[in-house]
Amino acid sequence: MKALILGRGVSGQGVAALLKELGFSFSFYQDGDGEPDLSAFDFAVKSPGFPVNHKILQLLKAKTVPILGEIELAFRFSRGTIVSITGTNGKSTTTAVVHYSLKANGYKSFIGGNYGIPFSEFALKTERDSISVLELSSFQIEDLKSFKSSVSAILNITPDHMNRYENFSEYVNAKLKLIKHSDLIVLNLDDPELKKVKGNNILFFSRKDTADAYIKGNRIVVDGKAEIPLAELPLKGIHNEENYIAAALILSVLGLSEEEITKGLKAFRGLPHRTEKVATIRGIDFINDSKSTNPDSLKKALESFKNIVLIAGGSDKGLDFGYLRETVRERVKFMVVMGETADVLAETFKDVVSIRKVSSMEEAVRMAFESAEPGDTVLLSPGCASFDMFRNFEERGKAFIKEVKKLEEGVESES
Ligand code: ADP
Repeated sequence: MKALILGRGVSGQGVAALLKELGFSFSFYQDGDGEPDLSAFDFAVKSPGFPVNHKILQLLKAKTVPILGEIELAFRFSRGTIVSITGTNGKSTTTAVVHYSLKANGYKSFIGGNYGIPFSEFALKTERDSISVLELSSFQIEDLKSFKSSVSAILNITPDHMNRYENFSEYVNAKLKLIKHSDLIVLNLDDPELKKVKGNNILFFSRKDTADAYIKGNRIVVDGKAEIPLAELPLKGIHNEENYIAAALILSVLGLSEEEITKGLKAFRGLPHRTEKVATIRGIDFINDSKSTNPDSLKKALESFKNIVLIAGGSDKGLDFGYLRETVRERVKFMVVMGETADVLAETFKDVVSIRKVSSMEEAVRMAFESAEPGDTVLLSPGCASFDMFRNFEERGKAFIKEVKKLEEGVESES
């Protein structure tokens, strides 16, 4: 058997590792390579980032060479239970909460998918009694065929990736396709798109209303099975409450007891670049939320803090920020904008807050510090992807941390 691997990135490398272990031969193809002799291949494996309209996909179809997504291929060689998690925001955090909760209770759990560890890298290590907790992007869901997870969750669906999808409803449908690939699906009742979904294999979670898992007073209640005090959980902010409720419901479906769920949810301390506290300088908190790459993640960050000096902006996906005007008016004292969307943001918010435009992270942090007072929060939550000025969100977050640390050293040496 010979495979053509489309895409040479992390996912393509995972596929190569899997095929090698299986004794298959393979070649890589990536955009820009010359056209290979397609009749030499029995099947092709597509990485999630590979361009959907690429000519080679048409040529493979014309020659009836089967095309599998990376997740689909890995699924076919995996064993045990699968948990899948998707949504516009909160995928990585919720996937990690579920995985680390399972680990903390001695279950054999694997984590991967869009999380940065390809499923194909560990599919052959899975066992009948192991659980693979997968973060799935809409691009990965599009390519699923026979894939089936025991339980899946869709956390939320808000506008993003409008440069890949024709319109919002196409993006919504790409996410909803996961329902077909799940025995049981966990959905967010507070999300207008997800609330509409009907079926008999659905469990709902909510922060606002009574549901299969919800918030009662200051506890997460998983109907009839568990009550977990929110104050004891390490991740803060309403978005993390949502992630915790979804995770608790998934863990309950997997059969964990109240004690196990409580112990598990406490175990995970959070991922870097997601509303992460970096320093407090002269009574001003500095928060790195570089992973905020769309308007809704920005909204959730704004709702998590008060007296905010906001640093926002990045690459332009054509998304609308207008619905955040009231939240910005209430919570943001001063706004520093940068990147491709600087002018769009300045135009959107010019009559609700004072705004300054800058051209580097160094300038942004300095300007934010100068505008802040003790008790304020300087928040980097760009609401946009990072590719205009940085390689990725990690590099952007690290640039922010570096500037904050420089500031901290400067202030310490002054005093
Ligand atoms: P994803 O993997 O879907 O990008 P992350 O957990 O990495 O999700 O978080 C991405 C961004 O979204 C961060 O800015 C984080 O603070 C924010 N976020 C996390 N959970 C949620 C949620 N449930 N709703 C909205 N924003 C969220």
